[in-house]
Amino acid sequence: MAMGFSSVPLLRRYPIYSPALPYFFSLRPNRRVNIAASLSTAEESTSSSLIQPTPSRTRWKPMCLYFTQGKCTKMDDPMHNDTFNHNCSLELMQNTAGLKNVRQQELEYFLVLDLEGKVEILEFPVLLFDAKTMDVVDLFHRFVRPIKMHEERINQYIEGKYGKLGVDRVWHDTAIPFAEVIEQFEVWLSERQLWRNELGGCLNNAAFVTCGNWDLKTKVPQQCTVAGMKLPPYFMEWINLKDVFLNFYKRRAPGMLSMMRELRIPLSGSHHLGIDDSSNIARVIHRMLIDGALLQITARRDPRSPEKVEFLFKNRIV
Ligand SMILES: [Zn+2]
Repeated sequence: MAMGFSSVPLLRRYPIYSPALPYFFSLRPNRRVNIAASLSTAEESTSSSLIQPTPSRTRWKPMCLYFTQGKCTKMDDPMHNDTFNHNCSLELMQNTAGLKNVRQQELEYFLVLDLEGKVEILEFPVLLFDAKTMDVVDLFHRFVRPIKMHEERINQYIEGKYGKLGVDRVWHDTAIPFAEVIEQFEVWLSERQLWRNELGGCLNNAAFVTCGNWDLKTKVPQQCTVAGMKLPPYFMEWINLKDVFLNFYKRRAPGMLSMMRELRIPLSGSHHLGIDDSSNIARVIHRMLIDGALLQITARRDPRSPEKVEFLFKNRIV
């Protein structure tokens, strides 16, 4: 059911500057131009590539979280459009000289996934990243309503997590149970020829990319158990970006922030808002592809005993 907008203005607040994270800066207009330019000259990098914003886009805007869930009813309102972004593209470009290291990928698409929620999943964001154009071309995003928690506990939980990001209202307006999310996700996958229910099995020419193994090794199976569902077959393998990062750059980056810091990529949006974290992981992927990384499956479940996960890279972050 399409939800209308709340009369309460949708607020999303963003950190201005965190002294603990010296490479991250505020999201004021043009900040990416300044940061990218200054860091590329001041810091030695493993790559000569330079990530720049599209010149026509001068002001960063937060994503409309109704739009990301297919529920925005205000896209013809100029004021709303002026405030919120309705385009999933990363809007990064690279100079052509910076493309000389790019390798042919084995997979056409990467599904960038970064779940939120410790007790139960609260947010399921997936960005469809095209390996050829090296950009996000589509997305699937749902807020997820826990099924085994009392209403009061959910309210506290959401207030604590999303309240401080100013997106608790939209969470309450849109969250649906995990089983429904998965149902809708499968329709989304099928419509894009990424997977077909009749055929079962893995994704078609695509793989999930996560930051760590937690999302698909631990959390999704746990949530499936809570929801009384079988683990869907497309969650049987994935790419842990941290392992690819370690093997490619020969540097340890134990988390998304450290990968971004290592690559001098400024943080966009709100950390721990799943859709923004996914977008930041997609920025890391973009940069790694430009630098010449090959993104391959790093973990796979045994089809006969799915609880067993085989890790395919010798050197990995544990
Ligand atoms: Zn909107």
